[in-house]
Amino acid sequence: MPVMQIPGFIDPVPVPRVASLRADGKTAIVGLTRTELTEALTTAGIPAKQAKMRASQVWHWVYHRGVVDFDLMANIARDTRTVLAEHFVVGRPEIAQAQVSTDGTRKWLLRFDDGNEAECVFIPDADRGTLCVSAQVGCTLNCRFCFTGTMKLVRNLTPGEIVGQVMLARDALGEWPTGAAKPVARADDDDDDADDDDAPRGNYTSEGRMLTNIVMMGMGEPLYNFEAVKAALGIVMDATGLGLSKRRITLSTSGVVPMMARAGEEIGVNLAVSLHAVTKEVRDEIVPINKRYGIDELLAACAAYPGANNARRITFEYVMLKDKNDSDDDARELVRLIRKYRLPAKVNLIPFNPWPGSDYLCSDPDRIARFSDIVFRGGISAPVRRPRGRDIMAACGQLKSASEKISRAELDRRSAEKEAGWVDAAA
Ligand code: SAH
Ligand code: SF4
Repeated sequence: MPVMQIPGFIDPVPVPRVASLRADGKTAIVGLTRTELTEALTTAGIPAKQAKMRASQVWHWVYHRGVVDFDLMANIARDTRTVLAEHFVVGRPEIAQAQVSTDGTRKWLLRFDDGNEAECVFIPDADRGTLCVSAQVGCTLNCRFCFTGTMKLVRNLTPGEIVGQVMLARDALGEWPTGAAKPVARADDDDDDADDDDAPRGNYTSEGRMLTNIVMMGMGEPLYNFEAVKAALGIVMDATGLGLSKRRITLSTSGVVPMMARAGEEIGVNLAVSLHAVTKEVRDEIVPINKRYGIDELLAACAAYPGANNARRITFEYVMLKDKNDSDDDARELVRLIRKYRLPAKVNLIPFNPWPGSDYLCSDPDRIARFSDIVFRGGISAPVRRPRGRDIMAACGQLKSASEKISRAELDRRSAEKEAGWVDAAA
């Protein structure tokens, strides 16, 4: 099985992407940007004068209507449809496993063309439906409480594999519009009308829709796969396609400081930061990337994050680990740090989800309540995240595939190697 293994230490250096040619010589359309699609159509022999218009038509069918068969693209001439079918595929990731929890949470294990697997979870709530999307197969960062970090195989997902998760969820939820769509404004809605994403599009609205929000909180570190995540979210936000507003998308990072400003400027979605600890000692232990980019550097990058304000606050994720990061002093220090950097912030307290072989226990419920209370009294909202989909292991950090796991000893060895690299790089 050909696996693109990411070596132990990877710096977040953006690498130009190449459109992926499949084994059958066809090009996968899902994941191409509009410009790339136009170019690909020209290469396939569509006259240059027509290519842009054809790209818009294909874009509409693929992303707005969820069509996978070129023959159903009614407003495209039959000859052109034949050319398209010869050179391209639309496609979806293969579903290796699908599960539904008693609370309505759904989980899909996806298998990609090279046999690698990643997970995607849909969490329905009364007022929204959130899709938790993966950015990588596995993760190189080995946060000590996270199951994904123990997966042996690691590779970046392609833009198509990331967008594919959203499209597959729409398929499963039966959410492609059937009516005709009117042309709509571009997604670049820089005005402050928070409801603009609910405006009617064609003869349907997003009201009553199940999939309303996306969080990049599945497997992997999205800012270690910057270009692909940017391309994928660009497609997801395009108003003539999937049409989700940037206000309804959140990217979670463990703290890849050098990429945060670019994420704000070039992607522009909401930011969540996996803080999890307020002292160097504890964060170094549980979120090892802290040895490279420390807490102060991280919070300064948050303060500079473009687009963060009181209406669009930064979410600080904080996993509650018994006797590790859950004391009253920790809570007070959290408030102090957020105030020190004047951050428009909310804190999301996540009860730790233990997994077989994990080193930690979840804090007791009254400890979590007390922690939350202290942060609240410091003027910062600090809700406790309600566990969802426990019966199908759909919780954060429990996302796993059939991939082999690495032993703790091997993980520690890799961490030490990586950290040695960080020290060298910093010197
Ligand atoms: N790699 C990114 C996004 C994916 S993880 C990041 O680290 O931010 C999504 C969230 O789940 C992160 O805050 C992560 O720290 C948290 N998480 C991971 N494992 C967990 C576990 N076992 N219990 C609770 N939260 C966990
Ligand atoms: Fe990777 Fe996030 Fe898990 Fe850390 S918490 S190992 S960054 S997926």
